[in-house]
Amino acid sequence: MIPQSFQYESPGTLAEAIQLLHQYGDEAKILSGGHSLIPMMKLRFATPEVLVDINNIPGLTHIVEENGKMKIGGLAREAEIEHADLLIKRFPIFKDVTKLIADPQVRNRGTIGGNLAHGDAANDHPAVMLALNATVIATGAEGTREIPIDEFFFGFYTTALQHGEILTEIQIPVPPSGTGSAYHKLERKVGDYATAGVAVQITIGDDGIVKAAGIGLTNVNPTPLRAVRSEQALIGKPLTEHSIAEAAQYASEDCNPSADLRGSEEYKRAMVAVLVKRMIHEAANRASNN
Ligand SMILES: Cc1cc2nc3c(=O)[nH]c(=O)nc-3n(C[C@H](O)[C@H](O)[C@H](O)COP(=O)(O)OP(=O)(O)OC[C@H]3O[C@@H](n4cnc5c(N)ncnc54)[C@H](O)[C@@H]3O)c2cc1C
Repeated sequence: MIPQSFQYESPGTLAEAIQLLHQYGDEAKILSGGHSLIPMMKLRFATPEVLVDINNIPGLTHIVEENGKMKIGGLAREAEIEHADLLIKRFPIFKDVTKLIADPQVRNRGTIGGNLAHGDAANDHPAVMLALNATVIATGAEGTREIPIDEFFFGFYTTALQHGEILTEIQIPVPPSGTGSAYHKLERKVGDYATAGVAVQITIGDDGIVKAAGIGLTNVNPTPLRAVRSEQALIGKPLTEHSIAEAAQYASEDCNPSADLRGSEEYKRAMVAVLVKRMIHEAANRASNN
């Protein structure tokens, strides 16, 4: 199928892009990598009359550490993230996740901002951002605002971004030493969306006690899901097979997967439990080397 015809705008500044979004209102959509939007337009699930291409706006592709935060520009592409040495050193989870997103062609174009703004629970970055306690920076006509990741995903393909707001940056607190992170998803074949995916970040103190834990789940709920009870099962005690099993059990109980071609509800819950256990072990292993 081919998309319905649309007007194409390519602003050179953020201010110009925001002005265009304001001018065309609901008829306009932001274009980043185009790897979610264009397929939806070809299927006519999305029929914007105007595309505001933000790819020529400078200053949106940075990956830097500043004031205890890792800052990633909304237009940073998966391929850039995959090879960002400092980011991967601080957060090895980004190496895990980018390798699992689609294929190199998609990763050369797809952006982290688009991945989050799309609001799809099947996308992989949302769970990672939940585990890492990220903050989304949105810029619009009223200026810039910070949206904690727990307030970002609203419902099916819906986020806290208002029309006319551009996701310009993601900020992630750099955790203390003794922290490790890991992501894995079960997929039917390379390049597929997750049957189930699990992101974990864990901080273990010198005394062996778990100081912090973040656990996000992919594609097993209508929205990306934080496994709150699983996190609580780990924090404030030593990491043991018992606490890990408890965290895995809670995550499988608290998610809400739908049966589809990727598997039954029961199968997906079982896979969540398996992946939670494995990712806690992997994150803890990395924490001990950090
Ligand atoms: C074959 C294929 C396989 C894929 N497999 C996976 C996978 O396994 N895992 C995965 O996570 N993803 C997967 N994707 C999706 C891919 O990662 C997309 O690139 C990503 O979801 C959207 O990023 P984008 O930059 O392409 O955004 P676009 O497609 O340009 O935009 C997506 C949506 O977000 C909005 N938007 C984009 N950027 C911004 C911004 N900065 N501020 C506000 N709104 C914005 C757009 O208006 C649009 O509504 C796959 C895509 C394809 C085509």
